[in-house]
Amino acid sequence: MRWALIGASTIASQFMCAAFRAAGHQIVTVVSGSADLAARFAEANAIPACTTDLAAALADPGVAAVYISSTNEKHHAQALAAIAAGKHVLCEKPLGLTLAEAQQMVAAADAAGVVFATNHHLRCSGSHRAVRDLVASGRIGRVLSLRIFHAVHLPVTLQGWRINDAGAGGGVIPDITVHNADVARFLLGEDPQTVVAQSATSGMGQGVEDSAMSVWSMPSGAMVFAHESFTHPFAGSGLEVHGTEGSIFARGVMTQRPLGEVELVTAGGRTSVPFASDDLYTVAVRQFARAVAGQGQPAATGHDGIASLAVALAVRQAARTGTRQTVQYGA
Ligand code: NDP
Repeated sequence: MRWALIGASTIASQFMCAAFRAAGHQIVTVVSGSADLAARFAEANAIPACTTDLAAALADPGVAAVYISSTNEKHHAQALAAIAAGKHVLCEKPLGLTLAEAQQMVAAADAAGVVFATNHHLRCSGSHRAVRDLVASGRIGRVLSLRIFHAVHLPVTLQGWRINDAGAGGGVIPDITVHNADVARFLLGEDPQTVVAQSATSGMGQGVEDSAMSVWSMPSGAMVFAHESFTHPFAGSGLEVHGTEGSIFARGVMTQRPLGEVELVTAGGRTSVPFASDDLYTVAVRQFARAVAGQGQPAATGHDGIASLAVALAVRQAARTGTRQTVQYGA
């Protein structure tokens, strides 16, 4: 498959270029708002062409799909343009700044008959898939609670729009809470119904929150706790799923790499759980390509992206108002 990259971003250079190539695909061009950045990005990542002209890139019949990894406020317009040009879309999270934007993107893709996916990488990790399989198999009985520990330290190189530009979609809630929402939905197979939350600026955020804690109620009665931050250098990451018959401890698994460990604890004792170590992003790209070929769905669909954004928006509203919010998933 031949791709155009929209956005000369860190995630594209650090992970996605390698993922496309590992899946046997080609990157034919990169589109950036800056000619200089586009040229530097293309050279550094061995991409044969670059442009600031999105329409020209989309007019290339040789481009089958686009990967959108610009800042968050640009995803909506860029995705609509790509869909109108008949391209399949792999879009970064959050899909948009509002639920209406995300819904419009997914509806447009559905109407155009193109594949639209959200780059929620964590559901592509072997560790998360192993946890989900354990939960689904009933090994821990009825799920009582899920705790997600996703307080990290934002690298200096990324301490730009994420921490100081609300207009670009900055803040830890659009950045990390969306991932945690997707994790909860993926692991438990149900959608958060209501949320309570608090957020804070604890050293990095300028006009946007850099930390959040929230509790979500699930339809089954299970409770989810989610903690996100940009300011925690030594916290480590992980998740725990607790059930009536056992608990699963997954340490170091809220990450971009296939790392960490998963342990199952039941009345029978403690067991280390093996999991696949495939690159998360390559798994996502391969599954996207199969969907384009008519074989199943992408790892995370557009509807998954709408749902994760809906939860994040509810968390932000709950934190701002100090009141419980019902998650509005839309029609
Ligand atoms: P970056 O800040 O690296 O890049 C975002 C945009 O900023 C680029 O598209 C580019 O604009 C501009 N830019 C990049 N580098 C420079 C520079 N040196 N000088 C001036 N402008 C620059 O963002 P990230 O890669 O961290 O995130 C991009 C998107 O990907 C976001 O939506 C984010 O939420 C998502 N993301 C997803 C991850 C995942 O695992 N799914 C992980 C990390 C990010 P232009 O578009 O004009 O080229």
